[in-house]
Amino acid sequence: MIDLFQIRVPMFSKKPILCGNWKMHKTIPEALEFLSQVPHDKTFYLAVPFTSLYPLAQKIQGSSILLGGQNIYPSAHGPFTGEISAPLLKDAGAHFVILGHSERRTLFQETNAFINQKVKRALTSNLDVIYCLGESLMDREKGNMHEVLEEQLKEGLKDMTTEDFKNIVIAYEPIWAIGTGKTATPQMAQEVHHFLRELIKKEWGSFVSENTPLLYGGSVTPETLPALLQEPDIDGALVGGASLNPESFKALLKALP
Ligand code: PEP
Repeated sequence: MIDLFQIRVPMFSKKPILCGNWKMHKTIPEALEFLSQVPHDKTFYLAVPFTSLYPLAQKIQGSSILLGGQNIYPSAHGPFTGEISAPLLKDAGAHFVILGHSERRTLFQETNAFINQKVKRALTSNLDVIYCLGESLMDREKGNMHEVLEEQLKEGLKDMTTEDFKNIVIAYEPIWAIGTGKTATPQMAQEVHHFLRELIKKEWGSFVSENTPLLYGGSVTPETLPALLQEPDIDGALVGGASLNPESFKALLKALP
């Protein structure tokens, strides 16, 4: 029998990517109820709480849905009470993991170097990575934005090869836009995405730059998504709040071209 958990779909794709991030929301029954209300023949990514991974993975076998976790510890196993490893996530049915989310950077003091260890572990464990970066309002107002983003990109993705990038998606999430209702305008997001695309080109070459999906995240709604996707360097969205409700999630899916 084919083990569906072992099939890797490279993230290189020209189709816009939609990824929901449930953060610390939904019990297992609530997660299953959500799943019963959304289409299973459309490809989308859903980063769910650890507790829901296995039951949801059982339900989505044979569908186009890709499940993921929201964190890992850099070690594969060991005495790390309360932590979760990449192999354990994979075993529970995860296809990918979100790393470097600003909530982890700010609330749990995660550094670029620490996140880089996690990225390496995820990839060697056959988990794809959605690597998040983004500036604070203070960085933006002080004019440090580009410097901060460059540091996050280069240090968080240090030592990545062209091959590694086949399984990496980058999500630009300005901290001031996450959960605040303040979406960056499509022009603001495009400006940063273009900056990131150029940096990636300088660091890893044109092939990686042209083929690495760059998602935007920060208070995206079904109403704001279409204009964001019109921008040439925006390849999809990472969505928190609006991914929790099946109706708004279906509307987000409909907004994909
Ligand atoms: C997120 O959690 O990554 C996010 C972008 O949240 P929200 O859409 O609620 O701003």
